[in-house]
Amino acid sequence: MEADELRKLPSVDRLLQEEAIASLAVQWGHDLTVHAIRETLEETRQMIREGGICPPLPGLARQIAERLTAHLRPTLRPVINATGVIIHTNLGRAPLSAEARAAMDAVAVGYSNLEYDLKTGQRGSRYVHAEELLCRLTGAEAALVVNNNAAAVLLILMCFARGREVIISRGQLVEIGGGFRIPDVMRQSGAVLVEVGTTNRTYLHDYEAAITEATAALMRVHRSNFQLLGFVHEPSLSELAELATKRGLLLLDDLGSGTLLDTAAYGLAHEPTIQESLAAGASLVSCSGDKLLGGPQAGIIVGRAELIARLKKFPLTRALRVDKTTLAGLQATLRHYLLGEAAEKVPIWQMISQDEASLRARADAWVRELHELGVAAQVVPGRSAVGGGSLPGQTLPTYLVALEAESPNAIAARLRSGDPPVIARVEDDRLVLDPRTVLPDQDATLHRLVAQALRSA
Ligand SMILES: *Cc1c(COP(=O)(O)O)cnc(C)c1O
Repeated sequence: MEADELRKLPSVDRLLQEEAIASLAVQWGHDLTVHAIRETLEETRQMIREGGICPPLPGLARQIAERLTAHLRPTLRPVINATGVIIHTNLGRAPLSAEARAAMDAVAVGYSNLEYDLKTGQRGSRYVHAEELLCRLTGAEAALVVNNNAAAVLLILMCFARGREVIISRGQLVEIGGGFRIPDVMRQSGAVLVEVGTTNRTYLHDYEAAITEATAALMRVHRSNFQLLGFVHEPSLSELAELATKRGLLLLDDLGSGTLLDTAAYGLAHEPTIQESLAAGASLVSCSGDKLLGGPQAGIIVGRAELIARLKKFPLTRALRVDKTTLAGLQATLRHYLLGEAAEKVPIWQMISQDEASLRARADAWVRELHELGVAAQVVPGRSAVGGGSLPGQTLPTYLVALEAESPNAIAARLRSGDPPVIARVEDDRLVLDPRTVLPDQDATLHRLVAQALRSA
């Protein structure tokens, strides 16, 4: 029986003569096609040995075609974010504005003056490109952009505190995610971590008492992904700045998210802004480019000119440098802030500032359009999260579209296997879609994919 079935398996040559496969060979080339045929035959042989039967020729041809498409599909693909988490680290954080994308494309397509001074015709520095904008927006004397904020923190500690002590509150020894823990980064940098205070209460005199000959800096780390509530105390940044100045120490502030706009104006808790941090007297402030700033992945360092100058010359900086497309995208994003148009043009701020009425109207329209495709759904009130290591526990009211489905997890899995994949949320045993994070031009695609996923259920 098994031998009979194995004998039915066509040869590679026979399959290549099959019209559907011959056209694949024209499209993808002979070698890739033969490779996919061999893999499919091997898998089928295995399946027959385990008691299966030989599929008919068209079935095999379909499997080969699917294998070829899967091989050639990029692993990094766009997805539709229907989770309502605005800065979703797993989904690539901030979507970029049209202007930022255009700026990145413009420098990607050809050559640029990345490290070329157009006035003198001599070698220039890539670090000048976003610097002036950052200084104007934050009030900093100087700025430097590196690969990401983790790199920024490591670089600062290595450059200014290697082999010396850095004092930090026990309430700020945080883990950001992806294994980025402040105590580990300190160790890696060669700085000696000096913990002061307790988890919930740290006083200025705790810092003061810990200062020794070996102290290089006081450091503050923003608790960007959790809240401390109740019986808590921490000195303000300006109190720390005063102490640092008096004792000739640096004050380093890892802001994490780093915002230029006041989140309180959008119904959220107040997230410390970069400007406030500098005004309070921090020597160096670092933050991410792709959290609340809404730009490409980058680590932004702003602060005192002589410190930034030392960072620019520090050898590790070369290993953490940013690409031309990042600088172009960041510059275009920062321009939106300078022009006072960030809330309208920067996608994450558009999402944060959407009002309830327009979210409701969009959810209602989705339900109507889904209904026309034969999908039963209803609008329910819910919450969207800012996410991405910013504004912990802070949510915004939204309207969700809940799908009626027997097994919401199975539908969620089917949505993830769509093209493009749709990432939804399962809440209270329901599959829900949040319009807040779905880009305006994705509505029709989303509805088609949802109808498809439910039909094949
Ligand atoms: C997110 C975050 C980081 C890491 O920033 P990346 O840009 O992801 O490298 C560091 N510190 C804090 C406080 C953060 O919130």
